[in-house]
Amino acid sequence: MEMSKISRKVVVIGAGAVGTTYCYALMHTGLANEIVLIDLDTERVKGEVMDLSHGLPFVPPVNIRAGNYADCKDANLIIVTAGAKQEPGESRLNLINRNAEIIISICKTIKKHSTEAVLVMVTNPVDVLTYIAIKQLQWPRERIIGSGTLLDSSRFRYMLSQHCRIDPRNVHAYILGEHGDSEVAVWSMAHIAGVSIKDYCPACLNCDPTKEHDLIAAKVRESAYHIIDYKGITCYAIGLSLVRISEAILRDEQSLLTVSILLRGEYNINDICLSVPCVMGRTGVVKVIQANLSDSEQTALETSARTLRNTLSQIDVSQYT
Ligand code: NAD
Repeated sequence: MEMSKISRKVVVIGAGAVGTTYCYALMHTGLANEIVLIDLDTERVKGEVMDLSHGLPFVPPVNIRAGNYADCKDANLIIVTAGAKQEPGESRLNLINRNAEIIISICKTIKKHSTEAVLVMVTNPVDVLTYIAIKQLQWPRERIIGSGTLLDSSRFRYMLSQHCRIDPRNVHAYILGEHGDSEVAVWSMAHIAGVSIKDYCPACLNCDPTKEHDLIAAKVRESAYHIIDYKGITCYAIGLSLVRISEAILRDEQSLLTVSILLRGEYNINDICLSVPCVMGRTGVVKVIQANLSDSEQTALETSARTLRNTLSQIDVSQYT
């Protein structure tokens, strides 16, 4: 069937800064033919839907409207951005107590409307909440993913592109693990035109890679703290990261993206959600790629998994079930 004849319905739960920026970016692409917004704040949803809809004469056809959880039933994609956001200086993991309860109640409501949709968790701490959503919804792991480190990988590619003075689209590099302080910059997989960054940087003589690579990884890790200090929220790059995930799913692209998935022994890690390279298509994650990490990268990934497991162990999920 032609793509234009297939229904492509996206439900966005949480019409705050991230949810609406995603909608604004998505409506330009022609990817979705229906975008449904849900939020506790129904007045806000009304206003956002009006504001977005008034731009429809300038973008490909799409119906944008306020909805409710029954809209999940025939959705292709559910994007969850509802919940509290970081205050200046606050870590993502610190949001857990405020957001676990919200995500559990949202999942319980989604469960009442049986759906084949793929769910993408965005609310922080995204890895822990992806795990909680899987436990609540009991769907196959492939259909519940977290946006994970796709945003961090994008920041990494941008900062390397500035460093190497190369178009960011030609820089291939990945951040794996937690979307947060224990994330892992995987230098062994970074390359430009197939040339490993470890060989590329010394050859161009612009920098001392031993010093500057650590600085770049730190800048990637600390980006969100700085943006939140400056403007209170982050929304544009995450909005575009979510459009990229939506493209991979709605167009069944088989694209490789770093998203958060429940690991079952891959990378020697079990029963925790964190980001690794995944092939994504219409049904969600089609394949988890087992990359060859260096020993220190593998150790750092296992440390990241332990950090997430510690946070999970602090929540008494049973109190919400
Ligand atoms: P925001 O405060 O602007 O919006 C949150 C929205 O959620 C509000 O409109 C609120 O009314 C709504 N909400 C709260 N509880 C709800 C419920 N039970 N049901 C429906 N709606 C509910 O916040 P934001 O800046 O849009 O951030 C949203 C989340 O996304 C935060 O947790 C933030 O940390 C996270 N975030 C994640 C990434 C990432 O890369 N994963 C990047 C940026 C932000």
